[in-house]
Amino acid sequence: MDFQLTPEQAQFRDSVLAFSRKHLAAGARARAHTPDYPWDVAKLMAKQGLLGLTLPEADGGQGGTLMDAVIAIETVASVCPRSADVVQAGNFGPIRVLGEYGSPLQKAKYLKRLLSGDAVISVGMTEPDAGSAVTDLKTSATPEKSADFDGYRINGTKIFTTHSAYADVILAYVRFGPGVGGIGSVLIEKGAPGVRRGKPSAFMSGEEWAELHFENVKVPRDMVLLGEGGFKKQMAGFNVERLGNASRSLALGRYAFERARDWALQRKQFGRLLAEFQGLQWKFADMKMQLDAAQLLLYRAASNADRGLPSPEETAIAKAYCNRTGFDVANEALQVMGAMGYSQEELVEYCARRCRGWMIAGGSIEILKNRIAEGVFGRSFSQRGST
Ligand SMILES: Cc1cc2nc3c(=O)[nH]c(=O)nc-3n(C[C@H](O)[C@H](O)[C@H](O)COP(=O)(O)OP(=O)(O)OC[C@H]3O[C@@H](n4cnc5c(N)ncnc54)[C@H](O)[C@@H]3O)c2cc1C
Repeated sequence: MDFQLTPEQAQFRDSVLAFSRKHLAAGARARAHTPDYPWDVAKLMAKQGLLGLTLPEADGGQGGTLMDAVIAIETVASVCPRSADVVQAGNFGPIRVLGEYGSPLQKAKYLKRLLSGDAVISVGMTEPDAGSAVTDLKTSATPEKSADFDGYRINGTKIFTTHSAYADVILAYVRFGPGVGGIGSVLIEKGAPGVRRGKPSAFMSGEEWAELHFENVKVPRDMVLLGEGGFKKQMAGFNVERLGNASRSLALGRYAFERARDWALQRKQFGRLLAEFQGLQWKFADMKMQLDAAQLLLYRAASNADRGLPSPEETAIAKAYCNRTGFDVANEALQVMGAMGYSQEELVEYCARRCRGWMIAGGSIEILKNRIAEGVFGRSFSQRGST
């Protein structure tokens, strides 16, 4: 067992750090406070080879490992927290599910623009009546065949979808039939007739989302990503998204920690540096222990996955722990910095707000703990009441 990055990984990290310092450091604060997607960053990252890191070269990717992608996202976040979202969109999110399960036609149609930083893809799972209980989703896919069309009509509503205000294509979870076995997914273009966006709304982080209404949207058969029975595979792919989410939580917690440490080393009160007060030293010791523990859990899940998909259990443990750590550390760092930590002069308050959302998004901490407990007891526990 080796707890160090390999020389190649360390070299890659250094190159991403140099890129980030050169291109992303300036403007980091402004980027965090605008809801717009940073398209300029996406194009720069595409040129640098930071999108599609884990996709095969034959698909236009870099053929790297999940650890490479984790190193990239946390290194970018250490310089510009908001730009880490571009690494997420280009490596961990639905793009990875498309890369894993997409047909050659689907990949040819979408990957090029996604990998060049000209487009993003959203994943639409959540619905008004299907949040944690995602298998309760109602968006329907009804088969339709005529002389000039062979496919499905999609009807339903998705909410809270990241990038929904501007995504070119939506990977939508839909119901082909009853039960979990009836769930699959389709690719829906933003401009398809019958796609309607609701009024934009903002999360606490400042990110905007819009309701997505599908009203008799026609999806050709060859744009079905996973048909009936595809739910398990879809969730297996979604574990990559969860690791990107965990990586950003941890990285933003660490960003806030480092700002607070620097602050404690220069801010004086009562004639002494903040770093000299034991009450604050213990806060830093607790933060450091949490960050290191979370890092090991994240790297375990990512490095065990290598070029494949990560283990659901290791992912759940890593995400739940990183989510908790990211928020707790950012929140403590904010406290250590007093009013300056609470002010938008610094990105620490942004890190705290942002980390708060990841405790809910992509499988809340409670839902992940349910999954972890199933591993502990070696059996599943239905969350549904007996009616
Ligand atoms: C920042 C952000 C980005 C998001 N991006 C997307 C996206 O891109 N695509 C998408 O489809 N969705 C997205 N979501 C939605 C997200 O997936 C849901 O918010 C999440 O699944 C929880 O659903 P809910 O909000 O309806 O909460 P609910 O399911 O109503 O849960 C409410 C509370 O009850 C708890 N709870 C529920 N069931 C149980 C249980 N069985 N045991 C214990 N506790 C339970 C939950 O943990 C939560 O604390 C995003 C959400 C956020 C905050």
